[in-house]
Amino acid sequence: MAAALLTRGCGPVRGAAFWPRGWQRLHTIYQSVDLPETHQMLRQTCRDFAEKELMPIAGQVDKEHRFPAAQVKKMGELGLLAMDVPEELGGAGLDYLAYTIAMEEISRGCASTGVIMSVNNSLYLGPILKFGSREQKRQWITPFTSGDKLGCFALSEPGNGSDAGAASTTARAEGDSWVLNGTKAWITNSWEASAAVVFASLDRSLQNKGIGAFLVPVPTLGLTLGKKEDKLGIRASSTANLIFEDCRIPRENLLGEPGMGFKIAMQTLDMGRIGIAAQALGIAQAALDCAVNYAENRRAFGEPLTKLQAIQFKLADMALALESARLLTWRAAMLKDNRKPYIKEAAMAKLAASEAATAITHQAMQILGGMGYVTEMPAERHYRDARITEIYEGTSEIQRLVIAGHLLKSYRS
Ligand SMILES: Cc1cc2nc3c(=O)[nH]c(=O)nc-3n(C[C@H](O)[C@H](O)[C@H](O)COP(=O)(O)OP(=O)(O)OC[C@H]3O[C@@H](n4cnc5c(N)ncnc54)[C@H](O)[C@@H]3O)c2cc1C
Repeated sequence: MAAALLTRGCGPVRGAAFWPRGWQRLHTIYQSVDLPETHQMLRQTCRDFAEKELMPIAGQVDKEHRFPAAQVKKMGELGLLAMDVPEELGGAGLDYLAYTIAMEEISRGCASTGVIMSVNNSLYLGPILKFGSREQKRQWITPFTSGDKLGCFALSEPGNGSDAGAASTTARAEGDSWVLNGTKAWITNSWEASAAVVFASLDRSLQNKGIGAFLVPVPTLGLTLGKKEDKLGIRASSTANLIFEDCRIPRENLLGEPGMGFKIAMQTLDMGRIGIAAQALGIAQAALDCAVNYAENRRAFGEPLTKLQAIQFKLADMALALESARLLTWRAAMLKDNRKPYIKEAAMAKLAASEAATAITHQAMQILGGMGYVTEMPAERHYRDARITEIYEGTSEIQRLVIAGHLLKSYRS
């Protein structure tokens, strides 16, 4: 799969074998300067795909709340839906920095497609890759790498989101089965998914230590899909409740050990946040591109808007926020790739990138004036799409709690 992603100018290549010698050192050298050639190539491939396949349809699928099925299938064929899954399991066999770069480019083309890609890569495949048995990986990963099938991740509930340890969905053992009861809320990709990683309590008295993670086929008896949420942004992706009523799944569908579910969920979100940071970068970059293009062509008081210092200052601040957030995001991905601690850095990246996206899309709309407020131009969509990056996979308040927790611990130890 990596071959499809890394073909520009150098012929087909295979994933890990293609990395230059001394790759780990290169990470450091390029950290604040430039990307390795492989990643530049990947970036260009994803940029070309986004400009050709996603930008032309992004406005329409948003308007119609329509899942971009053909484009997602093509992304599966390119290897974009299972980027860090090893090639022997059907994935692209790339690293997290590559995933981060691809997520930004895809989200620049269409933020809805970005979240569809992110959920399959990091929230669905991520925990199975990390905690699944060999047989679970074969059954629940490989068919989900090519775009034929998508997965989803069901942690949040109507009664709790940030406080995920308070899960009220239950799983009880009965003979050869687990029986699930309860409702999971806000589940991205739920309408298209063929499987879900579902978190449910085995013993509510144990709170977050009593949670299990379960692999649930979709559709399955006892599982109903709720209505699609009518959202402010990322409207081409589906979001809905999963309702479990005596839903029976085989005993072997437990991921990891009983009681490990909360740990699995938290570690999955630590990884996932880097991808959401990259989604925010893509949305912000699209808004900045749109603002610069417009300001170059729009005239006021006899000259282009870009001649006005007030507009130049806005553009400078937007570029600064974007570049700063991008470096934080790449750093978090590199730390993960180098097997170094990255939880605080992932939280910083998501916080910085999502708040930058909100600010940048706000200013882009301002620079477009009235044209920023109508659907004829994409600025209003970028403004709507940016907002969710401050809410899902941990709100900005939760990211601040994570950062402060690590900071204080480092001072106290
Ligand atoms: C479009 C969309 C897609 C989503 N996709 C998924 C998905 O695929 N899977 C999934 O499991 N979930 C998903 N979610 C759920 C999302 O992760 C939660 O909405 C998010 O975690 C916040 O939870 P909540 O909505 O219950 O808000 P709450 O937890 O009720 O929080 C409300 C407010 O209180 C603040 N707050 C809460 N606790 C604290 C605290 N301790 N300190 C300071 N402030 C606090 C929050 O930051 C927020 O501002 C999605 C949500 C949306 C809107």
